[in-house]
Amino acid sequence: MNNPETEIIKVSTGRSQYDIVVGRNILQKAFEEIFQEYEGHKIAIITDSNVEEIYGNKILQKLDKKDRVFILCFKAGEKSKNRKTKEELEDRLFELGFGRDTLIIALGGGVTGDLAGFIAATYMRGVPFIQIPTTLLSQVDSSIGGKVGIDHPSGKNLIGAFYPPNKVYIDLDFLDTLPNKEIVNGIAEIVKSAIIKDGKFFTYLESNIDRVVKLEKEFIDNAIISSLKIKADIVQKDEKESGLRKILNFGHTIGHSIEILSDFEISHGRAVGIGMAIETSISEKIGILKSEDKERIFQLLKKSKLLDISFKTSADKIIKKTILDKKTRKGVVEYSLIEGIGKAVYGIQVDDEIVKKSLAEAGLS
Ligand code: ADP
Ligand code: ZN
Repeated sequence: MNNPETEIIKVSTGRSQYDIVVGRNILQKAFEEIFQEYEGHKIAIITDSNVEEIYGNKILQKLDKKDRVFILCFKAGEKSKNRKTKEELEDRLFELGFGRDTLIIALGGGVTGDLAGFIAATYMRGVPFIQIPTTLLSQVDSSIGGKVGIDHPSGKNLIGAFYPPNKVYIDLDFLDTLPNKEIVNGIAEIVKSAIIKDGKFFTYLESNIDRVVKLEKEFIDNAIISSLKIKADIVQKDEKESGLRKILNFGHTIGHSIEILSDFEISHGRAVGIGMAIETSISEKIGILKSEDKERIFQLLKKSKLLDISFKTSADKIIKKTILDKKTRKGVVEYSLIEGIGKAVYGIQVDDEIVKKSLAEAGLS
């Protein structure tokens, strides 16, 4: 794999088609393209306070046609992903006279993408929407696939829509300013994509994960592009998660429970990291995964630094939480599990005793 200049990944589902443009230092060109393509449109760039502080001025310099472009900023953090912020941003759009010819650009991490995308989905019954993701997690995961939405006190992402973007621009240079603790969230999804769908990429990570984690350019770029291709491929086969897309939930059934039980003290990446370890164990215990493959997966998770957490809870609490989480699906917990390196299956029901044993092995009993 060579270090790419700019790569274009095409996503095409029954309902939507869009390009993901990936490269370094592509922001200037992205804005030029956007201005051209959306000539005459009024453009709202929705961003959070951290991203605005770092990139606001730099981006304003690129906006030569300022009179039709506005930067709308909200307070950074998952806590802002709610109805109130949505309402405030919508009010500002109306105050500024945004009409049907609106283009909304999400500039930021997953929180910004989800919130701005949901605004785009409902403003004037839907306006065009472009994603410019700036965190590793949003670059490999949330900016593609079309899931947008906000949180509710009852849980995360409970109000939302499928609203695919018209285009995604991924400038890998955004990673230069990303705090270290945010990196691990993206690494978890990258490793997950290899485990569930691509044995070759898994082998690449086995040899190079140290350099990927350190964000060495050639290696992180390759990893992001491989991961994006895997997600794009899955999403275009099953946009609405009626089947195959469920394999993207590998590690997330146990992972989400741990995230919630820790009151979100444990980051998404680390929770999913340990979730993947436990769900790999479950796969072996129910007899669908060879123990040598389990060992390889464990080694990669360890080398990715995804298992460095000490968190005390009980197996019972975790199991209860997985059931509560799936209340909406008649109380039946279905796991996405692993049959081999690069091969996932979904819709598997697992006996509580097996889950308990796997949790015990990981020290969570
Ligand atoms: P995620 O992308 O992990 O879903 P957020 O949108 O909350 O979640 O982003 C995580 C944090 O990183 C936020 O505090 C956000 O303001 C900050 N952030 C996003 N992009 C960058 C960047 N390129 N450089 C520095 N901080 C960033
Ligand atoms: Zn995830």
